[in-house]
Parts: sequence; C-alpha cells; structure tokens
Amino acid sequence: MRWFRPLAVTALCTTMLTALAACTTSPTGRSQLLLMSDDQLNQMGAQAFDQYQQKLPAADASSQRYVQCVAQAIVAELPGEQRQQNWEVEVFKADEPNAFALPGGYMGVNSGMLDVADNQAQLATVLGHEVGHVLANHANERASTESATQLGLSVLSSSAGIEGAGGEQLMGLLGMGAQYGILLPFSRRHESEADMIGLRLMAKAGFDPRESVTLWQNMQRAGGGAPPAWMSTHPSQGQRISGLEAGMQQALNDYQSARNAGRQPNCQRP
Ligand SMILES: [Zn+2]
Repeated sequence: MRWFRPLAVTALCTTMLTALAACTTSPTGRSQLLLMSDDQLNQMGAQAFDQYQQKLPAADASSQRYVQCVAQAIVAELPGEQRQQNWEVEVFKADEPNAFALPGGYMGVNSGMLDVADNQAQLATVLGHEVGHVLANHANERASTESATQLGLSVLSSSAGIEGAGGEQLMGLLGMGAQYGILLPFSRRHESEADMIGLRLMAKAGFDPRESVTLWQNMQRAGGGAPPAWMSTHPSQGQRISGLEAGMQQALNDYQSARNAGRQPNCQRP
C-alpha cells in the first residue's frame, strides 16, 4: 500500500476508488482515503480501551468527576452522531502525562496529565484535540495510506486481537503508542487539523481558548530535557502555537457566544 502517497490521494479518489465509497472529506475539507469501515475502527477502539483498562488502575473518584465534567461539556458540542454516542471516559492512575480518544466513543486520561493541565480549559484543550483526531478519522486515514492496513486487518481477524502480534503497532496507529513503547507520531497535517477542531470545540463549550497555548507550553516544560511521550507523538511545537494563534479570533468569538448562551463549565479540579 506504499504507493498511496498523500498527493496521489485526490487523484485516486476521483478515479479508481469511487466505486468503493472510500473517499470522503475531513471536517476541514481535506480529501481523505478511508479504507476501513466505521465498525472496524470502533471495534479496534473498544479493544484498545479494554487493553488500557487492564493495564492501568483507575484514578480516584474526584479525578473521574473532574475529567468527566470537562468531557461532557466537549461532547455536547460534537456533531449529531458523535454527540449521541455513549462516550466512556476514564482517568487512569499513572504519572506519565498521556491522553487519548478512540473511535467508538472512548476517552482516557492519565492522572499525570492533570498536573500538566493547570485548569479546566487546559484539560479541555487536551480532550478537544484528541477528540479532533477521532472526528477527522485520522486513525482510519493513516491505516488506509500506510502498510498498516494489512496489519490492522490481520489483527482484527486474529483471535488474539490486539494482544497478539501487531497489537502494539495497532495501539500506535490509534494514537496510544506512547504507553506501549512505540511512537507513531501523527503527521503535522493531522496535528494542525486536530488543533483547529479542538480549539473550536473547547471555545463552543465555554472554555477560554487562550488556555490552549498555555497548555502546550506547560507540556513542553513538563518533561524538562526529555518531553513526555505524549508530546513526542505530537510534533512541531512552534508551528502548533502559531496555528492556534491564527484560529484564535474565531475561537474567541465562539467562546463569547457560548458564555452569552450560558455555557460556563465549572468543573472542580481535584
Ligand atoms: Zn494529536
């Protein structure tokens, strides 16, 4: 599948693959090649979440309430189908600042992330960004444009599932690789797109979008010399901040409208 180079995707979409209905556009209007079905992705998400739950203990009740409060505010701003979905949100007891959202309606946050995200708006930045990857089908797109397609399909068809051969790479594909010692950074394009979607979501939910810049600065500082693994899967810090600043005026307008409409989340940080 190596010949699916990004520049060729549009051409492929308009020629060979329209019959497969594999082509779509992302929330920001990019042409995408998606070869896996929603069911397949949702199944991978469910398996990955289950694995994560088995690997890490749950954090305390007040952390759960806090993260669920922020997550609910974000979910309320999702497009219809995603908003109706029953999102499972869990905080895990682990120092490494990590967070993820998965196809099928799953969000996970390590307790260490709550030390890096200073307030509810910064946590909303993290969750909005991760949900942005899901809304824009980034895992599917990556699987469809890399040799990982074969890997994904073989893992799904094996009874060992995500625990078997290839399972760790599959976690990486879903953006959870940091915890499994395999780093598959999302591309810069995917990162920018997730940032933009996340910024709009947090602002529409009533969280101050300016805190997004501070979150990424905190994240940069958090690891001292070596940035946290979650950061390593999210490259290009400088470009990220200028991208966020470019979208800030629109986000501030959304934020003001949300506040005026009474969306003023007050999630108690433990
Ligand atoms: Zn990301």
